[in-house]
Amino acid sequence: MSSIKLTKRQEEIVQIVKEDGPITGEQIAEKLKLTRATLRPDLAILTMAGSLEARPRVGYFFNKDKQRPFEPTEVMNLKVKDYKGHPIVVQKSSSVYDAIVQMFLEDVGTLYAVDSEGCLAGVISRKDLLRAAIGNKNLEDLPVSVIMTRMPNIITVNPDETLLQAARKLVTNRIDSLPVVRELSSNPDSYEVIGRITKTTITKVYLEIAEQKSV
Ligand code: ADP
Repeated sequence: MSSIKLTKRQEEIVQIVKEDGPITGEQIAEKLKLTRATLRPDLAILTMAGSLEARPRVGYFFNKDKQRPFEPTEVMNLKVKDYKGHPIVVQKSSSVYDAIVQMFLEDVGTLYAVDSEGCLAGVISRKDLLRAAIGNKNLEDLPVSVIMTRMPNIITVNPDETLLQAARKLVTNRIDSLPVVRELSSNPDSYEVIGRITKTTITKVYLEIAEQKSV
């Protein structure tokens, strides 16, 4: 039987479920003084590994006989909403110069541009900025809206899609990052940016899970 190496927090979760299960995610979060959202990736991993079993409307049980290794397909069924990172957003009227500074300060490879209403308007990658910087002396006067990839050509992902769907979009479109978006109810063609998924996000999830698998 194969088992996984758990993080300290995951061990605490298993202990709580052993003692108090069936117990809901909300109740586990309360005991650990964390939010349900923070616990979501740990609960997903423990459920996939078979350490915990989840039943809708009942909660989590401990399952000592069912420890098993992860299947790659299960890993990829993890949801974008549980792994998305913080998006770095600039106004589309910002200058290319400020966008370059922002990219260095935030240590990201892609910025998202929004319009005055906060809706996604464009994507700015490193190469977009390099291209603009070649032969342009006045980067402080050049707005990013001139050089960005614009809507409706932006490939996005929604929070309920899986990491597999996100990985496929990244590879098929040969891009490094996807804005995670929510459609605005007031205007179905406009999107609010609520996160980002990058090639690094997907690689990190694989690594995290591979390192938890015991040999
Ligand atoms: P880099 O240019 O730094 O290698 P990418 O490969 O992500 O980064 O970007 C390549 C091109 O694709 C750029 O012109 C960029 O604006 C565009 N791009 C990046 N991400 C997206 C996206 N999610 N949707 C549409 N176009 C994108």
